[in-house]
Parts: sequence; structure tokens; C-alpha cells
Amino acid sequence: MNIINFINRFPDEPTCIEFIKIQRIKQGVVCKRCSCTKHYWLENKKSFQCSSCGFRTSIKSGTVMEHSNLPIRVWMLAIIFISATNKGFSAAELQRQLGLKRYEPVFRMYHKIRVVMRKRDDSYRLEGMIEYDEAFVGKSVSDKTKGKRSRDSQKQSKVAVMAESTVLEDPNSG
Ligand SMILES: [Zn+2]
Repeated sequence: MNIINFINRFPDEPTCIEFIKIQRIKQGVVCKRCSCTKHYWLENKKSFQCSSCGFRTSIKSGTVMEHSNLPIRVWMLAIIFISATNKGFSAAELQRQLGLKRYEPVFRMYHKIRVVMRKRDDSYRLEGMIEYDEAFVGKSVSDKTKGKRSRDSQKQSKVAVMAESTVLEDPNSG
């Protein structure tokens, strides 16, 4: 699916939730507490509720999106972006394309998607691929020191880096 098709097919968050919900029902939702497979969909909680013990499984629970506050549509778009190219697609570029303010959640999502993709397709290798990311390393520019620094010294403290990337086994611990 290309990006135009995606935008037409999934114009908003509810269409994405509906799609993931249907996929999960097809696969079968299993209760973590009692292993029951019969569930009711709770629309207002966006969760499956176990018909046996009442335990709730959120739409993201048990998927690559678990523990993320990013919308499902953002995840789906990220997967489209990453899978649409076989060249390097940096987390910074992904953040820019998605128009998101914070880098860190995008970085975690990006690496989780890559781990899942590698599991799905073992031939999908990043090793040896060089990608250019707009990361800058150097003297710290923390909020405390920001005000005291002159413009020139801030400029000098930035160095563009080029990194060889491999998939992280555990994006949480790094
Ligand atoms: Zn249950």
C-alpha cells in the first residue's frame, strides 16, 4: 500500500482502530488472565473484555504498539513509511514526516517496528547499511546552560554524526 492509498483508506484514528480491531478478532484475542478466547468489544474503552473473567485487553496490548501513547494511525503511517523504502529512513526523518514534536517516542517506535520487521522477514537486514541521521553530538546544551551560552558557542558545539545502524534487540534498555 502506498501513502496515497493509505491516507484514503485510513483518513483518521477511528478507521485505524476499526482495522486493527478486525485484524485482532481474526487472529483471536486470548485473555492474559484466564486464557479464554471469547471477548466483547468495549467501544468507549477501545478494549476487548473477557467474557469469562472480565479482564480487559486494550487494542494495543500484545502488539508492537503496546506501552506507546502514540495514536494507532501514527504507528500505521510509520510502518508504511519504513516499509515503503529499502534504503535508510532515519528516526529523525520519520519524526519530520509525521510532524511530531518529541523525538524519543518516535525513536522507540521506529526501533520496535524494525525489530518486528526483522522477525517477520529475516532477509530484512540493516547491518552494513549506513544512514545519515540529523543527530548532533557535542557539549551538552541543557536548559540550564542554554541561556548563558552565546550563539557562536552553541553552533560550535554541534557536530553532525553518521552512524552505522543495527536493530536493537531491546529498544527500552537500548
Ligand atoms: Zn479472562
